[in-house]
Amino acid sequence: MMGSQIRDISLAPSGKKKIKWVESHMPILQKIRKDLVDAQTFAGKTVVMSIHLEAKTAYLATVLHDAGAEVIITGSNPLSTQDDVAAALATEGITVYATHACTDEEYTAYLNCALDHLPHLILDDGGDLTALLLTTRQDARARLLGGTEETTTGVNRLRNWDKEKSLAFPMIAVNDSLCKYLFDNRYGTGQSVWDGIVRTTNLVVAGKNVVVAGYGWCGKGVAMRAKGLGAHVFVTEIDPIKAIEAVFDGFTVLPMEEAARQGDLFVTVTGCKHVIDARHFPSLKEGAILCNGGHFDVEIDMQTLRETAVHTETARANIQAYTLPNGRTVYVLAEGRLVNLAAADGHPAEVMDLSFALQALALEYVQKHAELLETRVYVLPPQIDERVARIKLDSMDCHIDALTSEQYAYLYHRGEV
Ligand code: NAD
Ligand code: SAH
Repeated sequence: MMGSQIRDISLAPSGKKKIKWVESHMPILQKIRKDLVDAQTFAGKTVVMSIHLEAKTAYLATVLHDAGAEVIITGSNPLSTQDDVAAALATEGITVYATHACTDEEYTAYLNCALDHLPHLILDDGGDLTALLLTTRQDARARLLGGTEETTTGVNRLRNWDKEKSLAFPMIAVNDSLCKYLFDNRYGTGQSVWDGIVRTTNLVVAGKNVVVAGYGWCGKGVAMRAKGLGAHVFVTEIDPIKAIEAVFDGFTVLPMEEAARQGDLFVTVTGCKHVIDARHFPSLKEGAILCNGGHFDVEIDMQTLRETAVHTETARANIQAYTLPNGRTVYVLAEGRLVNLAAADGHPAEVMDLSFALQALALEYVQKHAELLETRVYVLPPQIDERVARIKLDSMDCHIDALTSEQYAYLYHRGEV
């Protein structure tokens, strides 16, 4: 574990068990691993990863390592790092800079330590690593070929940097592949957000008024699963088209100022800031529960909530109670950070299998095409999406039809007759 900064190396056996369990549920990555390892695709390359450091991520890190890379890993959220998994990786020849519940200063210091290794390739989740490379750590770009970004907000940040002409290397928007957002953002978040909420609160969902802020890919999943659990689902949006989708999916759409008065449980999944803030806190019902499945800890204005509360206490592990000046007490899960990762294990292995198969292939793509890639944001070619989808179907023993030559000609050559 040369150079790693982790909590406790003796936790490694527990982390190894977690990694072994997810590996057995990640057949796509197992298959891709074989190809990458046989070819030693990443031999001589240093890969720096900043992403939720739990078991599925750890399996991806070992795949890259076994395919020849020197792998350096840090977290992408102070609360999602699992110390036993970090310890396991540190015993596997991977350099780890991550501890659960680190301070903001430690979080940034870990990112900087990782960048000291001068990556050829980066894997980012949310854009914090990339932001450093574009600002204070331009020195760490000395060998950089490019990288990949996992999530919607990170891709939004990349596109803004590109627009402002401050992006300095090619980045692949893995989030924008169909096999990523259709499954990870929708079904992954749809399940794991409820996993986090139910584990943390141990309360029933049926019959509750659940307010889902944002009806994008994550919001659709969270709302769909809330309905399945028997909740009355309300949706808030700023986009008129998404709002119509929510109405046609059978949900009540209303502004947050009204929803605040009605909700028992709120989930923000917008990628936006202050979606629930001082405009809404006084309207919340006694006992309302707030949590975030979107980005960082900004969707609920935690600073204002902390400053205005007349009393605060821990109600239960990962649940903070805030008594407001009007005497009502509301609860926030996981400090307003991603409830599925800060209070549970994130998306299930079968979902991260799709996302991380794409990540491995995206890193291979950057490595192979480095000389041709320009400084901009790329989406992976559709053939890579299709390859991942076909391996997934095979792994589920699910078979689909193929076009006959007559059907193919009918669909694609009609204009030529
Ligand atoms: P998306 O762009 O598909 O959806 C976001 C939606 O929020 C949009 O429809 C937008 O109109 C709406 N919105 C924006 N500001 C709003 C506001 N103030 N009030 C109400 N609605 C608002 O994005 P997505 O893929 O659903 O991702 C949402 C967030 O979740 C991002 O930050 C993303 O990085 C994150 N994410 C988290 C997980 C997880 O594991 N928890 C998984 C994937 C993505
Ligand atoms: N770092 C930011 C960015 C949001 S993370 C933050 O913490 O707020 C959202 C991403 O987490 C998603 O795109 C999803 O692919 C990823 N994710 C979800 N479950 C995960 C898991 N079990 N392991 C690793 N990453 C996961």
